[in-house]
Amino acid sequence: MPPLQARAIVLRRIPFSETSLVVSLYTREHGKLHGLAKGARRLKSPFEGALEILSQYQIVFLPRATEGLHLLTEAKLLDRFRPELAGLPGLFAAYYVAELLESFTEELGAQPEVFDLAVETLANLQRHGLPEVELLRFELRLLRYLGHLGQFETCVHCGQVIKADQPARLTEVAGGLACPRCWKVGAKGPILTPEVRHWLQALSGEIPWPLRDSGEISAKHPGLHPRIYGQIRGLVSRWVCQFLGRRPRLFPYLEKFGFFSTDRGELTREQIEHPTEIQ
Ligand SMILES: [Zn+2]
Repeated sequence: MPPLQARAIVLRRIPFSETSLVVSLYTREHGKLHGLAKGARRLKSPFEGALEILSQYQIVFLPRATEGLHLLTEAKLLDRFRPELAGLPGLFAAYYVAELLESFTEELGAQPEVFDLAVETLANLQRHGLPEVELLRFELRLLRYLGHLGQFETCVHCGQVIKADQPARLTEVAGGLACPRCWKVGAKGPILTPEVRHWLQALSGEIPWPLRDSGEISAKHPGLHPRIYGQIRGLVSRWVCQFLGRRPRLFPYLEKFGFFSTDRGELTREQIEHPTEIQ
């Protein structure tokens, strides 16, 4: 097989032998892949910057014949992730982005929109935005791109558009909503206020972002009330755990940095992880 090229984000790097690395990469062209970079830890190597975690590279690799690792032959640094710009909360938010990419995405299935979302999120996390809001935006859009999230616009029972000032009720399907007329029939999920639904739509890309749809999120953004943030954080955490089948490894760190802070959303950790009735 001839060598292949790809744009790649380094998700994980594990030292291998004296001088080599085994890396997990998320690529725009081939999805997730695992590769061996021989001699990557030597001072002089064809791997610029020794394949730093969260950084973006243009790579060349020889695809594996059957099982095993791809063989990386070259890596050119495109964009280095700079922890000093992100700060500690931003850095751990970025580690969480890497964890979700590694856990959620199948090997050898390209989803360029997921790659672009990750690149944009990592860039925003280095711009002193609001890492909490960046993560919600990333998680909701990732779940949607991977087909794990319903839409928040219409009722799953009657198919009608739920009006902007109407509450809606979550059904068993994540993100699937029932309108007030239909939820009496038996939906038991939490009731979402119009404001929560509006933000779920904006964060998941269903409606335009209130300020702008990309770039830096202003730290002074008045629209996302702490209480609304707490409610959405609780829902998204539950959905992520549900589709991952476990609690993400980075959750304790995000918790430590206040991402799940209870005074932010007036929710306890218990409620965040197992929300029942949110009104
Ligand atoms: Zn309905």
